[in-house]
Amino acid sequence: MAVTKHTHQVVFGRKVDGCPRCQELAAGAEPVRWAPSRREREQADDTERAAAIRAHFAPGGPHSRAACGPVCTFGDW
Ligand SMILES: [Zn+2]
Ligand SMILES: [Zn+2]
Repeated sequence: MAVTKHTHQVVFGRKVDGCPRCQELAAGAEPVRWAPSRREREQADDTERAAAIRAHFAPGGPHSRAACGPVCTFGDW
């Protein structure tokens, strides 16, 4: 079975037009399970952080209530 890979350096949160793997992920494909590498686990972590960041900046979230302090460093990673 062929494994689809990104055709570029992966930049979190960014989809690259013309990259088959980005299109797979955009279509909701499961991450390919072949001995997940540390890098892949980090990408999964990034996905969770991205969700947390979205929640943080969402209307009514901690950010809009100024619950994160004068300088927001949320997502500074
Ligand atoms: Zn890609
Ligand atoms: Zn904030």
